Amino acid sequence: MDRIASVSIPVSGPAPTGTTNAYVIGRSDALLVDPAGESDDLERALDRRSPTAVLATHTHPDHVGALARYAREYDLDVYTRSGYEKRFERATGVKPDANVRDGDVLPAGDFDVEATSTPGHAPDHVALTIGGVDATPRSEVRNGRVLVGDLAVAEGSVFVGPPDGDMRGYLTALRRLHARGPAELLPGHGPAIDDPRAVLRRLIAHRLDRERTVLAAVRNGHETPEVVVETAYEKDLSGVRDLARRAVIAHLEKLAVEGSIEWDGERARPVANC
Ligand SMILES: [Zn+2]
Repeated sequence: MDRIASVSIPVSGPAPTGTTNAYVIGRSDALLVDPAGESDDLERALDRRSPTAVLATHTHPDHVGALARYAREYDLDVYTRSGYEKRFERATGVKPDANVRDGDVLPAGDFDVEATSTPGHAPDHVALTIGGVDATPRSEVRNGRVLVGDLAVAEGSVFVGPPDGDMRGYLTALRRLHARGPAELLPGHGPAIDDPRAVLRRLIAHRLDRERTVLAAVRNGHETPEVVVETAYEKDLSGVRDLARRAVIAHLEKLAVEGSIEWDGERARPVANC
């Protein structure tokens, strides 16, 4: 039996691949992560690993759809990111038993699981580094396998934009993870990532490229996200125009905080004398 079970669960709604990966960490006293929906495969994995706790990488519906059901059915301790207990309860209908802070370590069978705060895609987002005696020595916990939720994907990119997104936080989280040099990334959607640093560099470069295009558009006199999006994206936007517009807003917010533009929530303007 694998010590980490990955179960792909079909989800409705705007999940990038139409499925979400739930994970069960540990061969006994396991930790359930991201129970996206009800699934026979997930129940089989849980039945063999006597889970004791559940945690979500973040509380978007495509990561917590069956959290309430499995928490009840397996009598799990329910953890949430510290400071987001109310948000968690709204999203899941479950009152959390305990919370985790950045750097906290949870037991998960043979493993230790360290939570790292990684806001950007969602404010309550955490990444989970799997370490411990049977995995990698405790001292190497930072170089282990990392459950990254919606922080990274093998192909394409994840959505970062309002109301939950924060582009500065997202880039910081990507860089922080890159600096740790993890061995493997286990994402919320799509296949495992066995070349983490290359993928993280690609994701960072993608955002910085887009930021340059957005900044250039503003400097050329384009003021609203609706107009900026038309010049910043070359590809056909039909069907994704609203997502693209919101991603542009996340870039505008970041550029404004950094003093590169002025942005009042509706119109962007270049900063004078720059
Ligand atoms: Zn999400």
